[in-house]
Amino acid sequence: MNEPATTLRQCLIANRGEIAVRVIRACRELGIRAVAVYSEADAQAQHVRLADEAILIGGAAPAESYLNIPRLLEAARQSGCDCVHPGYGFLSESEAFAETVIGAGLRWVGPGPEAIRLMGVKTEARALMQRAGVPVVPGFQSDTASDAEFRTAAVEIGFPVMVKAAGGGGGKGIRVVYDAAALPEALAGARREAQNAFGDPRVFLEKYIETARHVEIQVLADQHGHTVHLFERECSAQRRHQKIVEESPSPLLNEALRAQMGAAAVEAARAVGYVNAGTVEFIATPEGDFYFLEMNTRLQVEHPVTEAVTGLDLVKLQFAVAAGEALPFQQSDLRQRGHAIECRLYAEDPANHFLPAVGTLLRFIPPEGPGIRVDSGVQSGDTISIHYDPMIAKIIAADTTRAGAIRRMQTALAQTVILGTTTNLAFLRALLAHPAFLAGTVDTRFVDAHLSTLLPDAAPLPDVALIAAALHDLHRGDGETTQTATSESGSPWARLDGFRLGQASS
Ligand code: ADP
Ligand code: ADP
Ligand code: MG
Repeated sequence: MNEPATTLRQCLIANRGEIAVRVIRACRELGIRAVAVYSEADAQAQHVRLADEAILIGGAAPAESYLNIPRLLEAARQSGCDCVHPGYGFLSESEAFAETVIGAGLRWVGPGPEAIRLMGVKTEARALMQRAGVPVVPGFQSDTASDAEFRTAAVEIGFPVMVKAAGGGGGKGIRVVYDAAALPEALAGARREAQNAFGDPRVFLEKYIETARHVEIQVLADQHGHTVHLFERECSAQRRHQKIVEESPSPLLNEALRAQMGAAAVEAARAVGYVNAGTVEFIATPEGDFYFLEMNTRLQVEHPVTEAVTGLDLVKLQFAVAAGEALPFQQSDLRQRGHAIECRLYAEDPANHFLPAVGTLLRFIPPEGPGIRVDSGVQSGDTISIHYDPMIAKIIAADTTRAGAIRRMQTALAQTVILGTTTNLAFLRALLAHPAFLAGTVDTRFVDAHLSTLLPDAAPLPDVALIAAALHDLHRGDGETTQTATSESGSPWARLDGFRLGQASS
């Protein structure tokens, strides 16, 4: 396979954080000049520091900056970009933004606006998939039905059902309903949340599949009619209907099911004339049935596990496709090799409904070593603010076998040091050590159902004075060869290996 060589010169990266950093890295390798944008809250951010050029586009609130189409376009024009990469989240699935970029004569590093539109509303995507012969979860959708009609439909489908936002994403606007009495409140709650999050109150029903796995297929299509899939990612470890740990291959699939789901995903992509990278999400059952959930018309957060097992660079391929190049391989050239796992390290509190936490990362020492990759947009001294997604880093571990990858991930998590904010690090460690995870049987309800066994015992955290003392020691220790009194006394502050707060060393 040849390395793609694109003709694109300069890219506006319409995003922030780790995904902006990831795209900048691809640009650098391809010889594309990387232009970052930033809000007033991000002046010191890593994506700004790494880019070849950075342009201030507005206030901290996303509506003023990362969601501000006119400002983004102005930045692209002013700096002379010939393409725009939207990353994920923000405007990545905005038909309007894609259209505006293309209308301005720039290349859009993503699918066409038409595919974004067709897959953007879940109810319409479901209808389209049914026509294309891709199985969907039994459900009910109507823009005009009364609550009584929703109730009749729910009884027909059979409880439990899921109320879902038609315009949904990021796990928002979703309610599980176990009986008819709870339906009116769930409909009202989901509509409210959907209106707030997506400006679209429409909801629909799906049969709630209780023992379900989230298995998704990465697809990639060029502008010349070639569509391939890059196999699956298992993403069943979720909280608030959002992924925390992803892996490839999925422990659930055998070769036959993998081939079937891959073919269905390619079919789904073809049905909307899809171009560039995208993901078709399915719900799969232990019996080997699978149903279309939605298509994410962008690069996915968890794309690195696919990169690890296929050996491909998805972001570089996105640029190649956007430049009009043909895919440098066919389906039969592609193989899964070894096993990869990703953990999303968040500033959030697992003991308090996984609510986002904020704070300054006094010290962040990411793991390293053979088979370890860390994608992050922050470093020590940076702040996790209320304005944006609280993800600190993605840690990816790869090895020849699943057991090896798990062991690598466990070691990497044990090595990771974060001071200054509440995180899900201890929770991730517990999850990666849980017998169900080791057995590969975690389903989408697992985290909620076993939460108490995944929370660390409430160990008292050291106070701020201790943390300050620790930082002082660490800084003073930089470059010193003589042992300090603290390290001689065995103080954990002097150790950078495997020490973590509130956790016994393993
Ligand atoms: P993935 O499906 O790639 O794992 P997530 O669901 O975690 O992605 O979402 C990735 C990012 O995009 C998160 O910051 C999430 O909050 C945001 N996001 C996803 N979908 C939407 C949407 N429809 N509207 C707003 N934000 C979204
Ligand atoms: P979003 O756009 O918010 O990602 P999805 O439709 O992908 O919405 O659903 C989010 C998650 O909710 C899925 O990953 C899955 O775990 C769960 N889920 C969605 N639909 C169903 C269903 N019909 N039955 C069981 N679980 C579901
Ligand atoms: Mg989804």
